[in-house]
Amino acid sequence: FERKKILVLGAGYAGLQTVVKLQKLVSVQDCEITLINKNSYHYESTWLHETAAGTINYEQGIYPITSVIDASKVKFVPAEVTAIDKDNQTVNTTQGEFSFDYLVMALGFESETFGITGMDEHAMSITNVESARKIKQHIEERFAHYSESEVKDPNDLKIIVGGAGFTGVELLGELAERVPELCSQYNVNAEDVKLICIEAAPKMLPMFSEELVNYAVNALESKGVEFKLATPIVAANEQGFVVKENDEEKTIEANTAIWTAGVRGNALMDTSFDGVKRGRIIVEDDLSIEGYPNIFVIGDCSAVMNGEGENARPYPTTAQIAMQQGDHLAKNLKAVLDGDKTSKFNYDEKGTVCSLGPNDAVGHVMGKDLQGKKASFMKKVIDTRAIYKIGGPLLAYKKGKVL
Ligand code: FAD
Ligand code: NAD
Repeated sequence: FERKKILVLGAGYAGLQTVVKLQKLVSVQDCEITLINKNSYHYESTWLHETAAGTINYEQGIYPITSVIDASKVKFVPAEVTAIDKDNQTVNTTQGEFSFDYLVMALGFESETFGITGMDEHAMSITNVESARKIKQHIEERFAHYSESEVKDPNDLKIIVGGAGFTGVELLGELAERVPELCSQYNVNAEDVKLICIEAAPKMLPMFSEELVNYAVNALESKGVEFKLATPIVAANEQGFVVKENDEEKTIEANTAIWTAGVRGNALMDTSFDGVKRGRIIVEDDLSIEGYPNIFVIGDCSAVMNGEGENARPYPTTAQIAMQQGDHLAKNLKAVLDGDKTSKFNYDEKGTVCSLGPNDAVGHVMGKDLQGKKASFMKKVIDTRAIYKIGGPLLAYKKGKVL
């Protein structure tokens, strides 16, 4: 009797939730579980805007992967996955080749620039701990440079954020909180700092009611954020973002340009599978891939369709759905090991909360609109729950936001 090999790629919300649940369901004799992740730590992707703005220290949002896995059942390998061979059932990594009987792909998201000229070279984006830390450091350097220069460059104090989706809005909320701190640290006049958000659509946060959107815009504007709606970004260069305004192109200058206008699944999905769009693979009911019942994809690399036929649209990729998928997949893997049938994944959408800084937010949860301190508390509960679900009460106590 040979133990089945389960290989899990990625220790974000999706991959780590799968592993911590699976290790509870199986015994050592059942299978051999290997988890591969680029870093030895897990990071809370949903807190990266706070690291980027510098309102939290990056260490607050990370913990060692080995602290939540049962070493008697799971082997953890810190390595980068470089190729996936679906037919030969092997995965290449910087630490050698691994074979599998069952594969779980949970390699998460990357920034999507839609091929916009100059974006990769001239704008920063929030995709992982390193990129978030780079933004924080860059902003501090610009403030320091402004403060030390005899001839002041006003663009040192200008931060432009491209895209007013959840990531852009949450980042602006944190930046608005951080600016007064930076001003006093670098002896800069607060009125000289400009936070500008540039959004292509005429309306932002379309999933929320008008009242909530107005609340969010007023809250951020009162802290100095300027919104430019119906203003698509068409290029990025050394000066800043090139936008289209009333059919004319103009450059909005700034020495800090951050692109928060879209995400895609990991590019390894496109290179390893056929017909993949923006790094996302449409999953079968049980989270496997069409034609490969032993390969599963979850989290931001997967697309779970909502609705039937032509009206079907993928659910937005979120930590919420990624964790539910991980939970369900662990049960399906257990079923497969037991020779039972897998079951359908059903997404239970509980709502969303968008933070507007450390103590303010808007949200729609369990059918109810929330704003202000209540919504902010709810966001902290959600952030803490994610840690609790993976690491239990002690980790939630150490790392959580409400205990
Ligand atoms: P990820 O969290 O991206 O994890 C992927 C893992 O794979 C990482 O550990 C990474 O290091 C690893 N990896 C990647 N490539 C390789 C490789 N080649 N080899 C080895 N390892 C690799 N969603 C919500 O539901 N609520 C929120 O409040 C929320 N806030 C957000 C705030 C921000 C600023 C951002 C950017 C996103 C937010 N999201 C939120 C979305 C959420 O973060 C993602 O949907 C979620 O992280 C997806 O989880 P995942 O496990 O698929 O991927
Ligand atoms: P998004 O795709 O949701 O939003 C991108 C925004 O950028 C949109 O408003 C879009 O109109 C705009 N945009 C696109 N192209 C543009 C252009 N050329 N010029 C100007 N604006 C442009 O991306 P996101 O905000 O990074 O969110 C990614 C995923 O993560 C979503 O599923 C989101 O729900 C999730 N998320 C959730 C939370 C939360 O629940 N609090 C926070 C952050 C992200």
